[in-house]
Amino acid sequence: MDLQLLVSTANFAAIKHKDQRRKDPDQTPYINHPIGVAEILSKEGNVSDIEVLQGALLHDTVEDTETTFEEIEELFGSNVRGIVAEVTDDKGLPKQERKRLQVVNAPKKSKKAKLVKLADKLYNLRDLNRSTPSGWSQERVEEYFQWAANVVQGLRGTNEALEKELDKLFKERNII
Ligand code: NDP
Ligand code: ZN
Repeated sequence: MDLQLLVSTANFAAIKHKDQRRKDPDQTPYINHPIGVAEILSKEGNVSDIEVLQGALLHDTVEDTETTFEEIEELFGSNVRGIVAEVTDDKGLPKQERKRLQVVNAPKKSKKAKLVKLADKLYNLRDLNRSTPSGWSQERVEEYFQWAANVVQGLRGTNEALEKELDKLFKERNII
């Protein structure tokens, strides 16, 4: 039953993100990202809580597609909706303010939301190391790493394996 639910969640996310691409020059299909975040949690973070894995699969649906929180609650329940809501930026705010709030609010998140956020940052930083997004200067990449380190600072004490992997990346860039 859990397995079927997880597959349905992945399918829902794939349909929602179908027209989107990542920012890398290859324009990788967007869905690679939420699936990769869920895999990091399961494989590297040893997370087996299905709500967290569903939260990972759905984490960018409301922020980046027309998906509503109501839709998520109806299909996947209020706990999953809650996780997605915790990791969704308010698109009504200017980008700089959204970035600032991620740093300020990280320590206040639930453990489940913190797990999704850690894996999301880990995936994105690895993605930046793999290839630089179109139009990004090296300075912008450095700024992103610095900002991500500030967010991760507020998420610590949540999952040792994931935090260790993030620290490796920060050390490579002399951030910590
Ligand atoms: P972001 O810096 O927020 O873009 C990064 C986000 O894009 C990631 O968090 C990730 O979010 C998503 N993403 C998609 N594809 C990739 C990929 N291949 N690798 C990594 N991340 C990817 O970009 P914005 O355009 O939103 O700009 C935000 C800020 O950047 C602005 O506030 C501005 O200050 C700054 N900026 C700096 C510049 C500079 O030259 N220094 C120039 C322009 C802007 P997710 O996981 O949610 O998909
Ligand atoms: Zn994401």
